[in-house]
Amino acid sequence: MEDSKESRALCVKMRASCDGAHISGAERIVRERAVPQTLADLAARALHHSKGTPDFINLKVEEPGAMIRLKALQVTTVETSDPEEGRRKAAELLAAEGIDRADEIMAMFEGSYSLRGAMLVDADTLERLEPDRARGVRATRMDSAQSLEGGANCGKNHFAEAIVLATKVANAPGIVGELCVSDDPDYVTGYVATKSGGYRRITVVKRMGDPGGGRIFLYRGPREGVAETIRFIESQAVLVDCSALSSMTPRSASISGELGEIAAAGLSRKCRELESPTGPVALVGGKAGARRELVVMASNDYLDLARDPRVVEAAAEAARRWGAGSGGSRLTTGTQPPHVALERHLAQFKGSEAAVLYATGYMANVGVLTALAKKGDLIFSDELNHASIIDGCRLSGAEVVVYRHADMDDLSARLASARGARRRVVVSDGVFSMDGDILDLPRFLDVCRANGALSIVDEAHATGVVGATGRGLAERFGCGHPDVTVGTLSKALGSEGGFACVSREMADYLVNKSRPFIFSTAPGAPSVAAADAALYVLEREPWRVARLRENVGFLVERLSRAGVKVSTGSAIVPVVVGDERKAVAAAQALEERGFLVSAIRYPTVAKGAARLRLAVMSSHTREQLESVCAALRDVV
Ligand SMILES: *Cc1c(COP(=O)(O)O)cnc(C)c1O
Repeated sequence: MEDSKESRALCVKMRASCDGAHISGAERIVRERAVPQTLADLAARALHHSKGTPDFINLKVEEPGAMIRLKALQVTTVETSDPEEGRRKAAELLAAEGIDRADEIMAMFEGSYSLRGAMLVDADTLERLEPDRARGVRATRMDSAQSLEGGANCGKNHFAEAIVLATKVANAPGIVGELCVSDDPDYVTGYVATKSGGYRRITVVKRMGDPGGGRIFLYRGPREGVAETIRFIESQAVLVDCSALSSMTPRSASISGELGEIAAAGLSRKCRELESPTGPVALVGGKAGARRELVVMASNDYLDLARDPRVVEAAAEAARRWGAGSGGSRLTTGTQPPHVALERHLAQFKGSEAAVLYATGYMANVGVLTALAKKGDLIFSDELNHASIIDGCRLSGAEVVVYRHADMDDLSARLASARGARRRVVVSDGVFSMDGDILDLPRFLDVCRANGALSIVDEAHATGVVGATGRGLAERFGCGHPDVTVGTLSKALGSEGGFACVSREMADYLVNKSRPFIFSTAPGAPSVAAADAALYVLEREPWRVARLRENVGFLVERLSRAGVKVSTGSAIVPVVVGDERKAVAAAQALEERGFLVSAIRYPTVAKGAARLRLAVMSSHTREQLESVCAALRDVV
């Protein structure tokens, strides 16, 4: 085994550029058998970089030669709140190492933006020492020891890669320090690394969106030594022992520091106050108390039932009759006639034996997954599943196997190769909430049954939307039901709460085992009665579902006519923009034109896959849909 050909270690390098300007680069040392996957991973990374799309990608595999092992530099975080403070701190850290001209060194970053490698600079005279100044010095042939050994893979995240590089450089002969400013416009961090002082990560050293940055290696010693220093940095194979590092990017310890990092990364989130119910139009507060009317393309109230007079009256009537809150868990005082009636109604509507109510759809997913799976079990989860499913998986303690999105062959292969677990559970969104595509339920059920696995499908965006009368995927495909169908009362049913449609036996099981059902207060009668009334409206007025489908068809057709390619199987219409800042700017421009549209970006979707997410309602008028198309054509 030791000497088998397969166990040979090889260096894999990726460099990507556009118009000759460097976009990204990465280094790995992996076993020969892992080379194809590593090449694929690095190519994918090169293609999806926020700095742009490359026109040239260079992938190289080579023999590492003799490898040496180094211990990772110790990491500390220096919190700074703006670039000026960050630069001052960097200079102080360098000065503490006996490097005095730190300000001048910082200034050398200006104008070095297109440099692919690092500058090698004499720490005292500030002379450039590398023979090829346009190219710089490139640190290559390095990885974490853990990556090669196939253990905790700290080589996979950007932070660990930075530690590996800094550790190698700090150990090169004659190097007294390294200064790095991230050249990624999405990051504002930098670091100062020295062999004795370790890796000092500085939280803010530049402005968000600034593509400038780079590395300076500081050298002290005779000129004759420079060649050996460059040889070490460029060709000595190095494995860095990262076992003492956490695999996660370190975050500031203080709340304000962490908030600062979120803001600096342009990822702050804020609640927006709407000053009217959300129909197809809503009022938003503007500057100086001005109110504006926006066409809403972002609401999950697909059938416009949240403000339907019959639904509102049912809530008001239930509040008068049963009170505002239920006063306890379902198992103590929280079960009232409206709860029992809605559970019956939901089961009948969805075609199941029974239904179990939860306070929210989120809690339904957490409650079902944690009841059905625990340590020793396996959960198979689609890679694009909703956050509440991901949280349910984590909380269950079961081992989670993530399969490729909607790929039933991948699911089948993973199920087949994982026999032996006590219980196997497969969970998928019915309608995927960021792409709007729908699960192939018949195939999903076949795969689950063939492998003896329990099936769970989340129909949060399917109820009231998918199927001729809005009953969901089983109606749409004319097939059977999964073991558990999870749903929410908060989308097309216009209220709030969640549910699981199941067999009688499974309902008993959930009532006995599902902690959010047992330990959280039952939803109040007003929201329960409202959902029940909405369900009656949906049953009596199936034209709403048909109308919604026509509206989606109309919007998709108009968008494609305008050259915007979209596809959906639901009421969610994603317009993929790609770049994060572009998506946010487009949503802002749409708002200026009178449309409320959500920009969805990393980490909700993959980096470089940012999008505008349009949600259609049955009550949108053709004029509203046409006007949003026209506005979209202008802004994307
Ligand atoms: C919205 C949503 C949920 C959560 O439902 P809430 O009732 O809002 O808590 C669960 N799953 C999916 C797929 C969703 O889109």
